[in-house]
Amino acid sequence: MQCPFCQKRSRTHVVDSRTIKAGRAIRRRRECGACDQRFTTYEEVEIVRLVILKRDGTKEEYNRAKIEDGLRRSLQKRPVSEEKLQRTLTAIEYDLQSRENKEIKSRAVGKVVMQHLKVLDDVAFIRFASVYKAIGSADSFRKVINEFMKED
Ligand SMILES: [Zn+2]
Repeated sequence: MQCPFCQKRSRTHVVDSRTIKAGRAIRRRRECGACDQRFTTYEEVEIVRLVILKRDGTKEEYNRAKIEDGLRRSLQKRPVSEEKLQRTLTAIEYDLQSRENKEIKSRAVGKVVMQHLKVLDDVAFIRFASVYKAIGSADSFRKVINEFMKED
C-alpha cells in the first residue's frame, strides 16, 4: 500500500482495527514502515444492485426492507433479539450479493432466507416456509420442509 506521506509502497503495520457501519465496514489505522506516519484506510462491503426475477416474469430491484419485513413477521413473539434479527438480515444480504449472477429468482431468495431462518429459529422457519409456499412455490409445503430438514 502506498503511504500518503512519503509515497513509498512499503509494508504498513496495522495499529488499530474496528468495524463500523454496523459491521459493514472496517476502519484500519496503519503505520507506514518507511516513515512511521499513521493513516487510515476503510474496507467496505461492495453493495451491488441486485435484481429480483419474480415468478410472473417481471423484475424488481432488491429491497432489504421487504426481506426484513418477512423476517419480522416470521419471528413475531419468538425469543430472538433485534440484534440477531439484524445479523441474520445482513448475512442473508451477503449471501445474495456474493452470488455470481446479480439477477436472482425470487424463489432462490426465499431459499436463502429459509436457510438462515432454519439456523435461527425453527418456528420462524416453518412460518416463513408456509408464507413462501403461499406466494406460489411449485413444490408443496411439505416437500419444501422435508427438503430443508434433510440437510441437517
Ligand atoms: Zn511513509
